[in-house]
Amino acid sequence: MPIMQDILRQLAARPDVAAFVAGAAGAPILETAIAIQQIPAPTFHEDARADWIRSRMLEAGLSEVVHIVHEGDVYNVYGRIPGFAPDAPALLVSAHTDTVFDADTDLSIRHEPAQGRVYGPGLGDNSLGVAALLTLAGQIQAAGYRPPCDLWFVANAREEGLGDLGGIKAAVAHLRDRIGAVIILEGMTLGWVYNGGIAVRRHKITCRGPGGHSWGSFGAPSAIHYLMKLGARIAEIETTVEPRSTFNIGIVEGGETINTIAPHAALWLDLRSETTEGVEALERQVFDLVETVCTGGIETAVELVGSRPAGSIPRGHWLVQAAILSGVQVGVVLDYSTGSTDANAVLAAGLPGICVGVTQGGNAHRPDEYIETGPIDAGMRYLALLVVLAAHQLVQTAPRRAEA
Ligand SMILES: [Zn+2]
Repeated sequence: MPIMQDILRQLAARPDVAAFVAGAAGAPILETAIAIQQIPAPTFHEDARADWIRSRMLEAGLSEVVHIVHEGDVYNVYGRIPGFAPDAPALLVSAHTDTVFDADTDLSIRHEPAQGRVYGPGLGDNSLGVAALLTLAGQIQAAGYRPPCDLWFVANAREEGLGDLGGIKAAVAHLRDRIGAVIILEGMTLGWVYNGGIAVRRHKITCRGPGGHSWGSFGAPSAIHYLMKLGARIAEIETTVEPRSTFNIGIVEGGETINTIAPHAALWLDLRSETTEGVEALERQVFDLVETVCTGGIETAVELVGSRPAGSIPRGHWLVQAAILSGVQVGVVLDYSTGSTDANAVLAAGLPGICVGVTQGGNAHRPDEYIETGPIDAGMRYLALLVVLAAHQLVQTAPRRAEA
């Protein structure tokens, strides 16, 4: 990609771009991330955090700043930076606001300077991503850099768990006729460019029976006994390596007392594959097992509680290469990856999208989650260059909105 590399060098040498990149790296991003992290935001309850972000976007001088509560109480915050070509497709930069932690979780922060780490639940996933979003937007304004196309900045809800990517799905639907590419920010995935999203289907399988006394009604069908037979059969499903497919029974619940024949029991099943066909093949095997195992007076219901579509763009796609080259420019080495991120919904909607990181970290989704402070500076330089290069390339490659 010598041509894009030359473009990047020329862009990076411009005073306004250089000021933006330096500003992004020099901003107090860790402090911003901690301020965000201190506002509880369990999936489905991101409203307080969204209000705070809206105020910061207004302070940064973004246009059209609004906290939209989409249908079903999806809390997304939007802001725009106008580009030179208002009719060109815009670049969307987004970061999810929700966390896996309950509202009453202790959100205390612990600094470990000797380790180069800061610990805090949700700090890396994804307060740091949201802080990067706000910092990039603010520093573009401060540096006086005007992008070639509009930039939309969105802090979206519902990435985690049963949020089922509801926030980014709503954002993509809301901006569908205005955007041409999407960059998703995650706090602790630096080192990876996610250019593919795996397919995920989640089912809650519930068994119901008549119940009864364990002695007096012995022989009546037990919801737990049937559910356990079903679970055992599911656990024996042979997965494929190509495409890589996986399953997990993550939760089992049910029953009433030790001497009651269980009238109800349920399991929560997570199915994943690199392809839609792969996840559907797993799903068919599970449905067949439900048909064969759950008979004889047990009623079984299968409820789809989550669906993340698969999608990908090639490694050679300009957006993926823009990330790789921006990393090279500041000494950040990147590799390709696939996963389950907000980029899934973007790719499934037919838009080019990647997920990129700010720094490294560990123990995501655990109370002892931490981020590495060392790489943040280079991470922010890389992200700033990526936004500039991607906006430039988008205007070069995508059709004007009037033709699209
Ligand atoms: Zn995340």
